[in-house]
Amino acid sequence: MNKHVVIDNLLSFVIPCYRSEETIEKVCAEIAETMALRPEYDYEIIAVNDCSPDGVLEVLRRLAAADRRIRVVDLAKNFGKHSAMMAGFGYVRGAYVVNLDDDCQCPVGELWKLMDAVILEGYDCATAVYPRKKEAAWKKLGSQVNARMVTWLIEPPKGVNVENFHVIRRYVCDEMLRYPNPYPYVSGLLMRATHRIKMIPMEERERGDGKATGFTFKKSFSLFANGLTAFSVKPLRIASLLGVLFALLGFVYGLAVIIRKLVHPEVMMGYSSLMAVQLFSSGVVMLILGMTGEYIGRIYISLNRSPQYVIRETINMDSEDE
Ligand code: UDP
Ligand code: MG
Repeated sequence: MNKHVVIDNLLSFVIPCYRSEETIEKVCAEIAETMALRPEYDYEIIAVNDCSPDGVLEVLRRLAAADRRIRVVDLAKNFGKHSAMMAGFGYVRGAYVVNLDDDCQCPVGELWKLMDAVILEGYDCATAVYPRKKEAAWKKLGSQVNARMVTWLIEPPKGVNVENFHVIRRYVCDEMLRYPNPYPYVSGLLMRATHRIKMIPMEERERGDGKATGFTFKKSFSLFANGLTAFSVKPLRIASLLGVLFALLGFVYGLAVIIRKLVHPEVMMGYSSLMAVQLFSSGVVMLILGMTGEYIGRIYISLNRSPQYVIRETINMDSEDE
C-alpha cells in the first residue's frame, strides 16, 4: 500500500536496478538534466535494488548520500523486475510516476513529450514505443509472444503496447498496488486499471554498458508463465476444449477401427497406430494437468501469503515512510 499524500508538482521516477553499477549514475544525471528544463516541477528517484550481484547498491548509497531526492529500496533477494517496481510504487509521493530502466536504454530526454500527453491531453498513461527492438532473436520472439498474450488475455485497446519507459498518473499506480499476490505483471495491471494510454514513438538506445540483457531465458519464460495465468482462466477453458476435442477424435477413430475390422477381417491389429494415439493423448493430458497445476500452485502461493517482495533496508525514506 502507499499511504503518502499526493504532491502535485512532483515526479517520482521508479527504477528497478539489477547489474547496473556502471550505468545507474548516468541515468540519474540524465534525469537531473531533463528535469532542469522545467524548474516548476520537482522530482524524486526511487531506485530499487533487486538484490543485484554487482556493486550497484554501493553506487546508490553514494548517490543517496549526496542527494536526498535519490531514495533507495534494497530488496532481500532477487524478486524480478516487476516485483521490484511494485516495491518502488509503495514509496512514491508524486502525482506522476515515471517508470524506466537502469541501463541507459530509455531516452530520458524525451520525458516531456510523455508528460505533456498526460498533463495537457489528459491521458492516464503515456508510453514510449520503439520502432525495432535491438535484441537477441529468442528475446524478440519472447517479447512478441508476451505482447500477443497480453492482448489476448487482458484485451487492451487495439495495438496498445506499454514499453519500459512510461509515465502514469498516481491513481493508476495506487490501483496497481492493490494487487497483493506474488509474481505481479506490471503492464497487465496497468491496462487493467486504465485504457487511456498514449503511445509516442521514440528510439530505444543500446545498453550503456554494452553488456547483455539481465533477462535470462529462464526469467523471460517465468514472466510468460506468470502473465499467462495471472489474469484470467482463459487457458483453462482452452484445456477443457482440447479435452473434448481429443475425446471426440478418439471416439471417431475407435469407430473407424471397428468398422474397418468388420469390413476387412484380414487386417492385423496395429501396434503403431495404437502407440501413436497413446503418446498423443497422454501428451495432451500432461499439458492440461500442467496448466491446471499452474493455477493450483498460484492458489497455494496466494494462500501461503508468499510475499511479492521483501525489503531489507531503505535509504533517504523519511521516518513516517517506513
Ligand atoms: N531487472 C530487475 N531484476 C532482474 C532483471 C532485470 O530488476 O532480475 C531490471 C533491470 O534493472 C532493468 C530492467 O529490469 O531496469 C530491464 O532489464 P534489462 O535491461 O536487463 O532487460 P531488457 O532491456 O533487455 O528488457
Ligand atoms: Mg535494458
